[in-house]
Amino acid sequence: TALRRGLERDEFRLVYQPIVDLETGRPLGVEALVRWHHPERGVVAPMTFIPLAEETGLIVPLGRWVLEEACRTGARWARGTDGQALGYLTVNISGRQLGQPDFVETVTAALAASGMPPAFLVLEITESAVVQQPELALTRLEALKALGVRLAIDDFGTGYSALSYLRQFPIDVLKIDKSFVGDVAEGGQPAALAAAIVALGDALSLRTVAEGVESAAQATVLAELGCPLAQGYHFGRPVDAATIAALLAGARAPAAGAEGEVCCAVA
Ligand code: C2E
Ligand code: MG
Ligand code: MG
Repeated sequence: TALRRGLERDEFRLVYQPIVDLETGRPLGVEALVRWHHPERGVVAPMTFIPLAEETGLIVPLGRWVLEEACRTGARWARGTDGQALGYLTVNISGRQLGQPDFVETVTAALAASGMPPAFLVLEITESAVVQQPELALTRLEALKALGVRLAIDDFGTGYSALSYLRQFPIDVLKIDKSFVGDVAEGGQPAALAAAIVALGDALSLRTVAEGVESAAQATVLAELGCPLAQGYHFGRPVDAATIAALLAGARAPAAGAEGEVCCAVA
């Protein structure tokens, strides 16, 4: 009930986390992440309400709002109106949303209403969403690709890791789950696993993003492994659209200092 009311009362907001080039530290894209500004409880994290929204089906209207809001904001960043233009905006999509018969129309409408170019949008889907209904997922993902939208597998390595799907599905981006990144700087098995995922991404010509990078040591090891992109507190926490806009405006006229500092300014 509170979730439904929250939607009616416009209590949801998006924050955006930079996705950076590991070589230069420059932000190339952002991921949109939803927050619930509850009148009594304050800011509620998605882990608390997304599972409930999925169970009740409220993820469908909530997810539509997320997509529309992200596209409205992303359209400015695609044009470079706020300063440095970004390359893409990623939006998380739950399995239940993907399963909606009108999901492709919802995406088409959000793109048309905002004027955001389809190639600027990356939809993040988890392995489990794909594996549960592989045939439906394949049809849907192909229709989305036909729109010109790009697709990412989120939290890779935590689900079923059905490798055959990676080849079969029209995926562009592989996001290495943060559980593989945490101990990567210590070498040994964790680093070997991360290296294997980066190599897998390479072999399938996917762009690989390491999630949850919290230290310079982790960033260095991942760059050495050949991982092209990263996201995490080390580079910048999720922040509101105005803070991202300020970051992009700052990047228009580079200030003194290393390139990476532009990005770390949002940390
Ligand atoms: P995700 O898509 O894998 O998003 C990455 C999560 O990792 C985010 O948590 C982000 O804040 C967090 N994170 C980023 N950098 C670091 C780091 O360096 N260290 C650590 N420990 N965490 C980091 P958040 O925003 O709480 O979102 C959690 C999950 O909720 C997301 O995981 C995603 O699965 C889901 N979610 C968020 N927004 C949406 C949405 O709009 N729609 C749907 N369907 N799911 C969403
Ligand atoms: Mg994600
Ligand atoms: Mg993830």
